[in-house]
Amino acid sequence: MNATKYIFVTGGVTSSLGKGIISASLAKLLQSRGYTVTIQKLDPYINVDPGTLNPYEHGECYVTVDGAETDLDLGHYERFLGVHTTQANNVTTGRIYQSVINKERRGDYLGKTVQVIPHITDEIKRRIKLLGTAHKFDVVITEIGGTVGDIESLPYVEAVRQLRWELGPANSLVIHLTLVPYLAASGELKTKPTQHSVKALLENGVQPDILVLRTEKTLTEDLRKKVALFCNVDNHSVIESIDVPTIYEVPLSMQREKLDVTVLRKLQLEIGEAPKLNEWKEFLKKLHNPKHEVKIALVGKYVELPDAYKSIVESFVHAGAKNECKVYLDTIHSETINEQTVAEKLKDYQGILVAPGFGERGIEGKILAARYARENKIPYLGICLGMQVAVIEFARNVLGFTNAHSTEMSHASPYPVIDLMEQQKGVTEKGGTMRLGAYPCALKEKTNAFAAYGKPNISERHRHRYEFNNDYLCDFEKAGMIAAGTNPETSLVEIVEIPSHPWFVGVQFHPEYSSTVINPHPLFVAFVKAAMKQKPV
Ligand code: GLN
Repeated sequence: MNATKYIFVTGGVTSSLGKGIISASLAKLLQSRGYTVTIQKLDPYINVDPGTLNPYEHGECYVTVDGAETDLDLGHYERFLGVHTTQANNVTTGRIYQSVINKERRGDYLGKTVQVIPHITDEIKRRIKLLGTAHKFDVVITEIGGTVGDIESLPYVEAVRQLRWELGPANSLVIHLTLVPYLAASGELKTKPTQHSVKALLENGVQPDILVLRTEKTLTEDLRKKVALFCNVDNHSVIESIDVPTIYEVPLSMQREKLDVTVLRKLQLEIGEAPKLNEWKEFLKKLHNPKHEVKIALVGKYVELPDAYKSIVESFVHAGAKNECKVYLDTIHSETINEQTVAEKLKDYQGILVAPGFGERGIEGKILAARYARENKIPYLGICLGMQVAVIEFARNVLGFTNAHSTEMSHASPYPVIDLMEQQKGVTEKGGTMRLGAYPCALKEKTNAFAAYGKPNISERHRHRYEFNNDYLCDFEKAGMIAAGTNPETSLVEIVEIPSHPWFVGVQFHPEYSSTVINPHPLFVAFVKAAMKQKPV
């Protein structure tokens, strides 16, 4: 096999230009030409991983099969490529420094002054190359978080400079993503910010090979030529990334711009047939031509930031398209739900999803939402905390367990129906200590879960400390809430259902992490289907 090729993606001018989506789209195009591709995200913050960040800070924390708590861009990579990522796909400055400092303490650098250059940059380079050597990918795309010019990004840009020099031009290239703003007053697209951000890269010794220009308006030939001339790239290497209605259009617009062909040519890889992307196009066709519609309420507490529930939102896009159904998803703040408001807030929805979450704030609103769904026979999907509140609600209102609760919220509850897992009891550190990653689950026949998955054994990703308390399982099952899925090794309850309800499913795991464009998650598909059967509002 040939040596792994490395593509570095940097961003200039502003953040939020969609480096993750461009990286994922390019990867998709290369993958559909038969190359094995993976994408890595380097994040310049000092947290070792985003697991300890509030979703308000950085959006959702995405969990990989191997139990890494990672940046939400890894979710895009998996949704686009349908290939699992791992801990190695997300590296933060905190993790880099942690390993360098650990080595220093061990005495690995004995006698030396430990410095950003070469020690930190060497560790960055090692982490980038690790993916190439360990997993045998044809192409590794490494996305550098942040914006060129930021103090925090400097060691990463320096590592890229060194790697380009070490690997040579045929084995590596740099794609720089910038913004071409449109000035309505003068009716012009402006290239100066792009020129400046390329200059900032050049000051650090990195000449980009390809420029991807984010724009609201079509770029003229003249503008492309001007950018090419002033930024030292060839004309084919100025790529337009025009705003599109959905992120899933981006691979097609990158294909039209021949980003994949330009990349393959520069890396001296065989170009071959143009990818057909038939399944992808079929998905887009269904997405854009829905025959049905449903309204679903997403009850959570991080509603102000759409990225906080990114994977859930995208799972509904996939599941909606599969059902040829437009899903209108409204996020409802659980703190606004109380006895007086619950009916008013939720009466217009054909499905209710209670989101994952941590802590006491907004918990009673979530419990009320579960009760409303159960009593009014509205399809319900509870994810992680959303499953736990459904259990608490059932205990309080069906079993009559007054003040039943999770010990996360109340230590004094006489009925701790959700309790800390045995393995969690001595744990005091917060970072990376939850039950994380994929675990097996055995499904009971004749349940909604079994019908959705169509098989008896599944594996799903977890991220939690608390668990259904099996001391109460008999009481629940007798009263009509059953364990539809359990961990075959530990008997932990992973799925609860209410068989007398049209569709009431609570899952301790996170199905949203594994929904992809080509393989929408079966539980989301079944939930949307159940919601479609509910009378339209
Ligand atoms: N806070 C709950 C627990 O730790 C649920 C976590 C979640 O929803 N991801 O068990």
